[in-house]
Amino acid sequence: MLKSKTALVTGSTSGIGLAIAKALAAQGANVVINGLGDKDEIEGIRAEIETEHGVVATYDGADMLKPADIARMVRDAAERFGAVDILVNNAGIQHVAAVDEFPDDKWDQIIAINLSAAFHATKAALPGMKKKGWGRVINTASAHALVASPYKSAYVAAKHGIAGFTKSCALEVAQQKITVNAICPGYVWTPLVERQIPDTMKARGMTEDEVKRDVLLAAQPTKEFVTPEQVAAFAVFLCSDAAAQITGALLSMDGGWTAA
Ligand code: NAD
Repeated sequence: MLKSKTALVTGSTSGIGLAIAKALAAQGANVVINGLGDKDEIEGIRAEIETEHGVVATYDGADMLKPADIARMVRDAAERFGAVDILVNNAGIQHVAAVDEFPDDKWDQIIAINLSAAFHATKAALPGMKKKGWGRVINTASAHALVASPYKSAYVAAKHGIAGFTKSCALEVAQQKITVNAICPGYVWTPLVERQIPDTMKARGMTEDEVKRDVLLAAQPTKEFVTPEQVAAFAVFLCSDAAAQITGALLSMDGGWTAA
């Protein structure tokens, strides 16, 4: 379905982004993966995508904290492949703490990576999409783009921000066959969620099992984690012609969380 398209997925060395990169490659798209991690492991991921799906996969280590790096990454991808047809703004981090104890540097990093990086990448990618008259921008938002939880003020602020950014961009390019959407997953079992368990245990004075049951899955009526593969399948659908009229949408995939 996506042969001759190129997808750039930020934060795709792990979790949801990696699942999305693999799923787009499985549809024939060339992919640029991005993110932090061990060099050899990343090379293994890149090579596996290429051999498994018969596409070209490249890695770009652009730091989502650095606007110039982000713009350079998009430029390089466009030069290498002709265009970035699909941009998935997915990189994200979390920090759990009360507002009055929230470290200033963590606030700045979360806003930069979870929100501003999407602006910088989209700004750099849209001209190429406009030129080709086709494009897909998919932002990995969160249920926290729609509702809040305590102790996650920066994350919730950034995700609400990406919701507004998604809608505004979608309106700007609505007549150019470019769609801009946000997927809003509930809790997905990835390293990002695993890593916040110790901090949540500390902030709430809970055991690990209590955090999983009473904090994470308490919000999710199905009592099941979303899988990265389910989010990836949704992203693939958003790239299809069937999804051409879905734009500016905040699309929940949260086991019923935001219905409650
Ligand atoms: P993850 O920790 O598994 O992956 C995050 C990715 O972002 C990694 O590839 C990491 O290297 C990359 N990254 C982090 N900082 C970076 C930087 N400075 N520069 C470049 N790359 C950087 O987490 P995940 O759960 O897969 O999260 C992916 C996205 O999904 C995030 O935006 C997150 O907010 C969102 N999300 C996650 C969940 C969940 O429950 N896991 C739920 C809703 C939304």
